[in-house]
Amino acid sequence: MNFYKQQENKKDRLVCLLCDYYCKLKDGQIGICGVNQNIGDKIECLVYGYLSALNIDPIEKKPLYHFLPSSTSLSLGTVGCNFRCSFCQNWQISQTNKINKSNYFSPTQIVDIARQKKCKSISYTYNEPTIFYPFAKDIALSAKEFNIKSVFVSNGFESKEVIEDMKGVIDAANIDLKSFNESYYKKSLGGNLKTICRNLVKLKENDIHLEVTTLIVPTKNDSPKELENIVKFLKENLGVDTPWHISAFHPDYKEQQIERTSNESLNLALKIAKSYGLNYVYIGNSNFENDTICKCCGRVLVRRKYFGVIENKICDGNCPKCGTKISGVFK
Ligand code: SF4
Repeated sequence: MNFYKQQENKKDRLVCLLCDYYCKLKDGQIGICGVNQNIGDKIECLVYGYLSALNIDPIEKKPLYHFLPSSTSLSLGTVGCNFRCSFCQNWQISQTNKINKSNYFSPTQIVDIARQKKCKSISYTYNEPTIFYPFAKDIALSAKEFNIKSVFVSNGFESKEVIEDMKGVIDAANIDLKSFNESYYKKSLGGNLKTICRNLVKLKENDIHLEVTTLIVPTKNDSPKELENIVKFLKENLGVDTPWHISAFHPDYKEQQIERTSNESLNLALKIAKSYGLNYVYIGNSNFENDTICKCCGRVLVRRKYFGVIENKICDGNCPKCGTKISGVFK
C-alpha cells in the first residue's frame, strides 16, 4: 500500500496519508515533519533506513508493563517529528531533519540484529514513528516471520489509514495522551486532541495491546480538573484495565524554567485514577513503587525496580492465587 494519493482537483499535489495533517505537497515540497517529500511521482520517506539511534532496551522503558515483562526490545528511531512539544526530551533527534546517511540499516538487517540479541520485540520509538511508518511496517512484517513483535511508541496522531493498516502489523503501542485541552494541543504541541482520542479507541478495537502515558508538566496539564478529564476518558473509552503511566517532567529543551513535577502532583494524579477505579496506574521517572497488583485478591504479581523486573508471578496471564485474568500479553 502507498501512503500517499493524488489530491482531488489539484493535479500538481500529492497528499501524504501518514499522519492526520494530510500534508498536500507540490513537487519538491516536504511536509511538516521535515522527512516526507514529494519527489514528482510519489512521496518518499526520506528517513527510510537511516537511524538516529539503535539500542537494546528493557520493554519496561517504553514504557510497557503489561507486554512481555522483563523481555528486551530492539529500539530504534530516525530524525523528525510532526509535533513541536517545547519540553521534548529527545529534541536533538525529533526537531531536526539532518539525516545521518552513513547509518543505514535495511529491515532485514534490523530483524537479524533482534534475532541475534534475542529481543522479543522491536520498538519504533525515540522520535515519532508515524512519520516513518513505511519503514516500520517493512521491519514489522519481516520480524513476524521469526515471531518478533512490534511496538509503536507514539503521540497518537496517525492518519485513519495508518491506524487501520497497523492492525495485524503492530502488536503493542504506548500512546501519549499529553493533555485533555484542545487549545494546548493546538498551540503548544501539535495535532489535536480529537484525533488522538479517536486513535486510542481504534487501536484498542483493532486488538493492539495499548498502554497510555501522560507526562505531568507543572502549570500546563496538572490541574485536578484536567487530570480528572483524562482519567474519565480512559475509563469510559478504553476501560479500567488499560495501564496508565503517569510520568514526571524534568526541565528540558525550551522548558528550562518549569520545575520538576512534585511528588504531590504525581500522587494527586494517582489518587484521581484510583478514585475512578483504574486498576493499573504506574508512576515513571520517579522513585515510586510500580508493582502490578491483582485487582481481585490484592496479591503482588510483578515487582519492579526502575526498569527492571525483580519478580513476576503472573502465570499464563492469570493471578496464581485467585485466577483473575490480568490484562496484557504475558507469553
Ligand atoms: S507524515 Fe504527517 S507531517 Fe509528515 S508529510 Fe506526512 S502528513 Fe505531513
